[in-house]
Amino acid sequence: MSAVMIDGKAFAARVRGQVAVHVARLVADHGIQPGLAVVLVGSDPASEVYVKSKGRMTREVGMISVEHRLEADTSEADLLALIADLNADPTIHGILVQLPLPGHLNSELVINSIDPAKDVDGFHISNVGLLGTGQKAMVPCTPLGCLMMLRDHLGDLSGLNAVVVGRSNIVGKPMAQLLLGDSCTVTIAHSRTRDLASVCRGADILVAAVGRAQMITGDFVKPGATVIDVGINRIEVDGKTKLVGDVDFESCADVAGAITPVPGGVGPMTIACLLANTVTACCRANGLAEPA
Ligand code: NDP
Repeated sequence: MSAVMIDGKAFAARVRGQVAVHVARLVADHGIQPGLAVVLVGSDPASEVYVKSKGRMTREVGMISVEHRLEADTSEADLLALIADLNADPTIHGILVQLPLPGHLNSELVINSIDPAKDVDGFHISNVGLLGTGQKAMVPCTPLGCLMMLRDHLGDLSGLNAVVVGRSNIVGKPMAQLLLGDSCTVTIAHSRTRDLASVCRGADILVAAVGRAQMITGDFVKPGATVIDVGINRIEVDGKTKLVGDVDFESCADVAGAITPVPGGVGPMTIACLLANTVTACCRANGLAEPA
């Protein structure tokens, strides 16, 4: 392996430390404690794990964590009524509805019922539009975490060729918008892209958000490129479940200049950015200076 490993776990811990400092200042100087409400409908096991660790980390940085656990058969009207209450609650600055929602609920309608100023996931159509037009938005946490790691590792991203593999609304598209905002030349690749390997080989920055285990191999990577692996895939190895990314770490690490591991790369940054977004939302709601 010749690539530098980008340690998302350590970076995320630093970000959470900065969030904690900001929270302590908000409490001491203004008597305001940021509050994050997480709404979980049903009992999807992966969502349970995420919600639990979000709650723990929210409390660890000194914020108020409120969890609303609703039955899987909760009606849309009841869920919308809860969100309306949270929108009106001045002690709640961030609202996150854990996805995926059970099939009978309209996710788009639910997400768009969140006050955009409290939409710390950045999925509300207003925030999508603001990000797309280069205005101040709440930015989706996973791509924001990727951007922070890229800036930290590379400094100025201006003029670099970036390829984002994946065009989902929650990762691929906002990632591309953020890279464009930092003046990269951006290509978005997807399942219909022709000769994906050669498109990827043009990238100084390669972001994989595909959902296919170890699909991106060393021959997709330009020597010295920075590779960010968003994927979280569970595979069976010798009868045991193993977590791997969309990037084949071994072969890519021999070619890349820097690479994020899975686990310990993008994943930890996602929750750190959620906490950072909640502090940002709290500062904006109170007309106070935002964290840098
Ligand atoms: P989606 O399934 O919504 O999107 C996957 C994208 O990959 C689609 O745009 C699809 O193209 C494209 N794709 C699929 N197959 C290929 C292929 N063979 N070649 C090129 N492109 C392909 O996934 P998400 O964006 O939600 O998530 C992507 C990955 O990131 C998943 O592994 C997910 O678990 C992980 N993830 C990790 C997070 C974290 O915190 N680390 C947070 C969110 C997601 P098309 O549009 O043409 O179908």
